[in-house]
Amino acid sequence: MKVYEIIIITMIILLSSNLFGVIYSLIVLKTSIFKKYRIQQIPYKKGIFKQRFPLYFFNLVILSGFGIGGVFLLYDFFDTGLPSIWVFIGQVLFVFIIDDVWFYFMHRYMHHNKYLLKKVHSIHHRAHPPFPMEYLYTHPFEWMLGTIGPFLGYIFIILVMPLNIYAFWTFALLRNLHEIHIHSDLKLPLLKNIPFVSAVEDHDLHHAKLNGNYASTFRIWDRIMKTRFNQKNTSE
Ligand SMILES: [Zn+2]
Ligand SMILES: [Zn+2]
Repeated sequence: MKVYEIIIITMIILLSSNLFGVIYSLIVLKTSIFKKYRIQQIPYKKGIFKQRFPLYFFNLVILSGFGIGGVFLLYDFFDTGLPSIWVFIGQVLFVFIIDDVWFYFMHRYMHHNKYLLKKVHSIHHRAHPPFPMEYLYTHPFEWMLGTIGPFLGYIFIILVMPLNIYAFWTFALLRNLHEIHIHSDLKLPLLKNIPFVSAVEDHDLHHAKLNGNYASTFRIWDRIMKTRFNQKNTSE
C-alpha cells in the first residue's frame, strides 16, 4: 500500500466521522428527536453551532495535519496485511488504554494548574451543556497535547511489532465516535451500558461540576485514583 493511499483512507475516516458529528449535533440542536434522552435539560443558546464552528474547523485542520504527519512518520512500521483477530483487538485496545492514561493525567493536571485551567482548559468547559461536536471545542494547545496519547500507544507497539493499518484506522474511527458520544448529553438506550467504558453522564457531570471524572474512555482510572464522581456528585 502506497503512503498516499493510507493518507486518503485516514482522511476519509477523520472527515466522515466528523461529518457524522456535525449532522448529529444539528439534529440535537435543531430538532426534538433526542430531547427525551437529554441528561441536562438546559436549553442550548441560539446560534451556538455557528458561533463555535471556527474553532471546530481549526482543530479539525490540526487533527488532519497530525493524522497525515503521523502516517508519514509511521509508514515504515505499518503492516498493511489483514491481521489476526487477536493482534487487531490487542492493538486497538492497547492504544485506547495508553491514550486514556495520558488523557487522564493531562486533563487532571489542567484542572490542578490554575494558570492552565484559566487560560487553556476553561475553553472546553464553556461546553455546558455539551452537544456532540463540542469535543472539538478545545483550546488548540490542549488539542495538540491530546494527540500525544495515541502516538505513545503507536510507539510502544512498534517497539515490539509492526502496527497493523486496520488497527490504526479502527482506533482513529472509534476514538472520534467515542468523543462525539461522550459529549452528546444523551443517554441513549443502546449505548448507555457498554461495560467498562465511561458513560455519557460521567463526562457530562465533569463539564457541569469542573471536578472529577477526568478519564475519557475508561472509568477505571478515576476509580483507582479516587476521582470518580457519580450522579449525586459524591465520590464513590
Ligand atoms: Zn469534554
Ligand atoms: Zn475538564
